[in-house]
Parts: sequence; structure tokens; C-alpha cells
Amino acid sequence: MTAYQEQELLINNVLKSLQARHIVSPKRRLEHIKEKPSRHPSFGVRLVRLGYPIVAYRFGNCTFDEGSLRFILLHEEKHVRSSLVWLIPMILFVAVSLQLVLRLLLLALGAEVDILASLLLLAAISCGSILALRHGETQADLWSARKLKSNFGIRTPSEVALRALTWPDEVGGRLGKAIRSLMRSATHPSKEERVARIARDVDADPSGG
Ligand SMILES: [Zn+2]
Repeated sequence: MTAYQEQELLINNVLKSLQARHIVSPKRRLEHIKEKPSRHPSFGVRLVRLGYPIVAYRFGNCTFDEGSLRFILLHEEKHVRSSLVWLIPMILFVAVSLQLVLRLLLLALGAEVDILASLLLLAAISCGSILALRHGETQADLWSARKLKSNFGIRTPSEVALRALTWPDEVGGRLGKAIRSLMRSATHPSKEERVARIARDVDADPSGG
């Protein structure tokens, strides 16, 4: 069995155990997307059919233990349960971008169009979207950490999060790496911020998280 097959078996078993405990919806399915061994892992929700989202994943250049995969799958489950937090910003961003492209086309065709208003709107929507997406990431982290504490007796979920979020450096093209890193840092707080927030809000909470 290859390393990826072993990881695939593990993530499927972790999902089944979360479903058996009724923490993750029995409807949830996983999809192993094409591996890119030089790249970072990827975990994300795909809204294939309304009500039946899929968590698409690849392990990339990282190997995960059972606890890390549990943290990650719980994090994605919270994204599914709070879909509007990321769906609305994304829809608004796409709509405003399309509107700007349309205005630029009209301008190129010689029409009198106010581009400045569209640019300002896009800037405002982008800033709002980034704030909303980062907030959604923190909420997913905290939800996942609280479940680890209450359902699995993990006293310091921040240690599990640190393992789950520590990935080796990517190898390959510098430009692609820089773009992916920029996108990630715009939409996600840093690993250090995420782990520290879990330590403060969940590890240190005597009520059980
Ligand atoms: Zn996330």
C-alpha cells in the first residue's frame, strides 16, 4: 500500500468514527482529488449538490496522524454548517468583479461609464470578504477544538491544531508558491494566530471548551 493509500484509509476511518459519534453529518462524503506531491495539502468544501456537500482533499507533501485529520475534518464540517459565512462574500466578490469587467468592456467600446465607483465597490467588498472569511476560519477552528475537547477528552486541542497546520515547505515554481501563499494569508489567519486563539479560548477554558 502506498503512503497516499494509507492516508486515504485513515481519513475515511476518521470520517466514519466522527459520523458514528453523530458529530459529522452521515451525508458527508470525501473525495480524494489529484495528488500534487510538491504542493501543500488541500482540504475544502465542494457544494456539489445543495445539502450534500463533499469535502475534497489531497495530502500533498504532508503526512497526517489520526488526531490531525480529526481536527481538519471537524474544521471542514463547521464550514459546511456555516456555509453562508463564506458563500455570501464569494458571491458578492464574483458579482462585483463581473460588473467591473462589464463596465471596462463598455468603456473600451466608447461608452461613458463610471469606473471609479465600481473600483471603490470592489475594494470595499474585497475588504469585507477577507474579514468575513478570516472570521469563518477562526469559528471553524474553535468549533473543531471544542469538539476534540468535549468528545475525545483532548485537554489541549491547540497541540493537535499545531500538528495539523504544520506543513513542510512547498517545492517548485516561486511565482505559483508566492500567489498561493498570498491567497492563503489573505483568507486565513497565520498558523501561530490560529493555534494561539485555540489555546486561549479552548485549552484554557475550564468549562470544557
Ligand atoms: Zn477553513
